[in-house]
Amino acid sequence: MPRPIHAVIHQPAIANNLEVVRRHAPGSRVWAVIKANAYGHGIRRVFAGLRGTDGFGLLDLNEAVQLRDLGWQGPILLLEGFFQPQDVPLLEQYRLTTAVHCDEQLRMLEIARPKGPLAIQLKLNTGMNRLGFQPSQYRAAWERARAMPCVGSIVHMTHFSDADSPRGIAHQIEAFDTATANLPGEASLSNSAAVLWHPEAHRAWVRPGVILYGASPTGREADVAGVGLQPAMSLHSELIAVQDLQPGDTVGYGSMFTADRPMRIGVVACGYADGYPRHATGWGEHRAPVLVDGVRTELVGRVSMDMLCVDLGPCPKARIGSSVTLWGQGLPIDDVAQASGTVGYELMCALAPRVPTTVATITAPDSASPLLA
Ligand SMILES: *Cc1c(COP(=O)(O)O)cnc(C)c1O
Repeated sequence: MPRPIHAVIHQPAIANNLEVVRRHAPGSRVWAVIKANAYGHGIRRVFAGLRGTDGFGLLDLNEAVQLRDLGWQGPILLLEGFFQPQDVPLLEQYRLTTAVHCDEQLRMLEIARPKGPLAIQLKLNTGMNRLGFQPSQYRAAWERARAMPCVGSIVHMTHFSDADSPRGIAHQIEAFDTATANLPGEASLSNSAAVLWHPEAHRAWVRPGVILYGASPTGREADVAGVGLQPAMSLHSELIAVQDLQPGDTVGYGSMFTADRPMRIGVVACGYADGYPRHATGWGEHRAPVLVDGVRTELVGRVSMDMLCVDLGPCPKARIGSSVTLWGQGLPIDDVAQASGTVGYELMCALAPRVPTTVATITAPDSASPLLA
């Protein structure tokens, strides 16, 4: 008998979230970002929900190959480009669009001389300072790429550091528009936060990731209230034990929690080896929320490898076998993330392979189909 923990990936929610992107950026084509195995959801599991996209953005060649195996014929963008000269022929074999962010990549193209035409997205560093050519070097990089017979279309690309925070993006847009002025070609700038909050940055292509999965770019659920996003992943388990505590009794490793009154606590089959954040440990002012039989309560004591404990005060009828939602519908993943000092992105990406996962399919939203690997 398997442990009761399981995750569900909701394809209709993902399709809904893509529609939210379309409503916000009606004039732009969409690169649906599915790096990190679709932010932990599984490329094969999310694919049907994202069929309506214009292209997919990802990092690993094997993810691109998976997409082609699924039958996707449209554009695929390698967001970091390629890493070695041997990768260049694969760009043609799998018809991949590639980011080009440094002279070394231009050099690899010059040496490999693929037949082409290759679609490239030339990356401009407008202040993020991770990838991209400095504005002063951008025109020369563009001219060098333009001169290569193997290069077809060149899209101008940059990435924002503060589309979800007070500093904003005006300084980066200005740097982008200055560096690309008088160069032909489309532009691709916006991550999820810019899709939601910076229409001036939408341009020809947008590159949303996290909102397709229903979480907030800021890590705060309140910031996307009313936007219409739906959670794409839910994580469920059950109570496997109940304990009655007396005042002074402690819970779990390190005795991090001490009961100050008679309490009932429930033990949930879910721990950090399932991907639940150990930092959500129930102490301090932020205790991670949990639903038990649909009632919101919170963690007590340290999260251990395979179990965590919850206060059953708000749910007096709970018993062994009661259903537990760790995140998903009714309990935003961002709320759990916030109590753990992180963002929803990190939790969804960390869902452990040992958690059995089913898919609520597009055609029958209420039924969960068997595991898609
Ligand atoms: C990950 C990534 C995105 C998507 O970011 P979100 O914040 O998840 O929308 C967009 N562009 C690039 C280059 C990325 O690496």
